Amino acid sequence: METLDEFRQLGLSEKALEAIRNKGFEKPSPIQKITIPVILGEDVDIIAQAQTGTGKTAAFGLPIIEKFEGKSDVINALVLVPTRELALQDCDEIVSLAEKRIYAVAVYGGQSISEQKRRIKKGVQVVVGTPGRILDLLKRGDLNLDNLSMFVLDEADEMLNMGFIDDIEAIMKYTPKEKRTLLFSATMPDRIVKLAKKYMKSPKKLEVDKTQPTTGLTDQIYFEVRESDKFDALTRIIDIEPEFYGLIFCRTRNDVDVLNTKLIERGYASEGLHGEITQAQREKTLARFRKRYINILVATDVAARGIDIVDLSHVINYSLPQDAESYIHRIGRTGRAGKQGTAITFVSAAEYRKLNYVQKVTKSNIRKEILPAAEDIVAVKKEKIKDELFDIIKKKAYTDYLGMAEDLIAINSPEVALASLLRLAFKSQLEVSNYQEIRTFRVDTKGTTRLFIGLGKKDGMTPRKLSEFIRKEVKISDNHIDDILVRDDFSFITVSFTDAEVILKAFARHKSDGKPLITKAKPRS
Ligand code: ADP
Ligand code: MG
Repeated sequence: METLDEFRQLGLSEKALEAIRNKGFEKPSPIQKITIPVILGEDVDIIAQAQTGTGKTAAFGLPIIEKFEGKSDVINALVLVPTRELALQDCDEIVSLAEKRIYAVAVYGGQSISEQKRRIKKGVQVVVGTPGRILDLLKRGDLNLDNLSMFVLDEADEMLNMGFIDDIEAIMKYTPKEKRTLLFSATMPDRIVKLAKKYMKSPKKLEVDKTQPTTGLTDQIYFEVRESDKFDALTRIIDIEPEFYGLIFCRTRNDVDVLNTKLIERGYASEGLHGEITQAQREKTLARFRKRYINILVATDVAARGIDIVDLSHVINYSLPQDAESYIHRIGRTGRAGKQGTAITFVSAAEYRKLNYVQKVTKSNIRKEILPAAEDIVAVKKEKIKDELFDIIKKKAYTDYLGMAEDLIAINSPEVALASLLRLAFKSQLEVSNYQEIRTFRVDTKGTTRLFIGLGKKDGMTPRKLSEFIRKEVKISDNHIDDILVRDDFSFITVSFTDAEVILKAFARHKSDGKPLITKAKPRS
């Protein structure tokens, strides 16, 4: 049996460890490691930042359970969340970690208020709810927060994005002065900092070390595509994947609807998710996606926020998000749980500067790739068909059709009969012309990239030799390599953004001491 020592070291009780074991957790996540001891042991407010899916609920849920076990039937903790899904999700997580040591209830709009009131009256220590509904309950006198000692703002950035600030401030007025406020957020925009200043007592900032690559298992790629070619680019990517299971991000609700409709018309198993879709429908869609009845979910950032779906094969940025943090946030949904995932970004000429910014701020290495050619996709599909045929042969699943086959080859050669049959069955899928031509284009970037090369004077390099060494592999002209600096063990050069991509690709397999020979230079900081 696992020892769960790392959880024990955070100060959690044996009962908590038992629940953690039953949940199947093995190690605390980074945000849990840094927040749990502080919430348990120190009497301070905290602001905690970590990306979605990193276990923030247990980070505050476990200490809340420890602190309020055995306390009388008063509400000790209130957790505010932006959406009904998150209210349910957080409440479920707390309930499962509590194993009846404390009781929690989720309250949100759209469900009978009297039923929620009844559940609160029965005696709960923790209420998880959306700001609107909590405020309603407070105004009606159905919720009493006089004994509140922990006030949690979960997904705080999203609550502010959704315009809940007034409700949150109104709710604050119903809470006692002497309480601890715990704020959890994936991003820390200024508005959050302001809110914290106003309502929190010298909060302790806890942040997962950003130098730890949180996108480690995610391969990040971008394709240069015209806005009008994005849809075709997308279908190529989906078609060439043996098992595409992905989330596609669009910027607006309308973009989601348009893309989703196009995908369905082309025969893909896709559904859309955005704020205007009814709660009931959203839940159904999510359930279908989780069960993989559909393998494509098209969503806005807000709709996808906080929803806990792991194991995605792909996250696709159909358009780039508003800010760099949202990019990290989006792509953090793949490459989880030790599995390799791919994050793909479509970049139109207009989005190019934004991509540069995202790369810089997030220190991400986003590689440029060329879209798969129509011929390659058709070849992949042919292989898939062959595999399926061989499978039928192996399982002898063809016996009902033997008579028909005999009729066909009685008057034709087997090749002709078979080829005609393949055409009949698969023509629509196997035409190269189904894929519209996607014109390539070069973004004219003034941007440059500094490259690090693991060869220096010790290797006999001089600026001239270094330039020749690179130009032996790639076709770029001599005067496109600037700022050559040769040191004893390594060198630097500066090239245009596009040339850098070409060079990195060409040298991808060259290693020195097991490390890539040429890499992007670390930003000077
Ligand atoms: P966040 O609020 O940061 O988006 P959640 O609290 O919703 O993340 O957690 C995401 C998922 O990870 C949940 O299914 C949760 O049960 C699981 N999880 C949380 N902590 C751990 C852990 N230490 N080990 C494994 N899984 C965990
Ligand atoms: Mg959360």
